[in-house]
Amino acid sequence: MKAATYYAPGDIRLEEVPEPDVAPGQLKLRVRACSTCGTDVKISRSGHPNMTPPQIMGHEIAGEIVEVGDGAGSASDGTGWAVGDRVQVIAAIPDGTCPDCLAGHQAICPNQLSMGYQFPGGFAEFMIVPREVLAVDGVTRIPENLSFAEASLAEPLACVINGQELARVGEGDTVVVIGSGPIGCLHVRLARARGAASVILVDLNADRLAAAAALVAPDHTVATEAQDPVATVLELTGGRGADVVITAAASGAAQEQGLRMLARRGRLSLFGGLAKDAPNITVDANLVHYRELTLVGVNGSTPAHNKRALELIASGAVPVADLITHRLPLDDVLDAIEIVARGEAIKVTIEPHAALA
Ligand SMILES: [Zn+2]
Repeated sequence: MKAATYYAPGDIRLEEVPEPDVAPGQLKLRVRACSTCGTDVKISRSGHPNMTPPQIMGHEIAGEIVEVGDGAGSASDGTGWAVGDRVQVIAAIPDGTCPDCLAGHQAICPNQLSMGYQFPGGFAEFMIVPREVLAVDGVTRIPENLSFAEASLAEPLACVINGQELARVGEGDTVVVIGSGPIGCLHVRLARARGAASVILVDLNADRLAAAAALVAPDHTVATEAQDPVATVLELTGGRGADVVITAAASGAAQEQGLRMLARRGRLSLFGGLAKDAPNITVDANLVHYRELTLVGVNGSTPAHNKRALELIASGAVPVADLITHRLPLDDVLDAIEIVARGEAIKVTIEPHAALA
């Protein structure tokens, strides 16, 4: 079968590899959609500390079961897995047994493994769902009204849900989202679904911002090439500031600006991580102190967040179909990563069996 294998930074090969065999406790999937994200770009440029090359990439996975290994268990609804089941797969795999997992914080499991990092991922015609994924209820049936492509966006949406839960986005909030890529777009839509009164979308690049705003319709946009984001948000909120600022960009400057545009009791969600050689920002601790501000981190998602994401997409609360701007065959996966790198797409989905769609 064909697969996209990471060997080293700058060396990803679309190559012919043996089709995997299912072992006891596993499922074998025909990958029907695997979406591409900024992390794939990062891996292609500079690798990833958790990556064990050579490794098949791709972690936003949806497919259909073609083989059920002996003792592969059953879904959380108690029904067994069957050939033909349409399923979505988690990306980050907690161990489910450490103190953090037992406390319900599976997203920060220190023993976390990942699809496409330690296990072969979804940029392939077929893929094995390891028993480690099934052990933590990491496979979910795709609701009938959803396409595989839409279901593949459950993984990034799951991370967005985790972020907004931790930042306590809720009814009546003014929410600022900095960064208008796919994650920023999902944040705008989820904030609305959670009852935000006003959503302001901010980006450096005016063209990218306009394209995103045309889809997700924030109440206001701020293009920071031309406008000071802090002054503009304060002006838009009558001097009060925002209840929540979410930085969906790898920018320390955005994090520093975010802190200065918060209302009293505001929460700054550091959603996007920074480059590992430049992780420091400057924080006015007195601003945090006197205004009772909260800085909150977020790291991926849990299996439960993935299930909630599928439900939100299926119910129409967070539509995603229109965010998929490009659908490409597996042969074009290297182009897909470059399209994401150039910021030309919102979401690029790889369909290894496009003829079946
Ligand atoms: Zn754990």
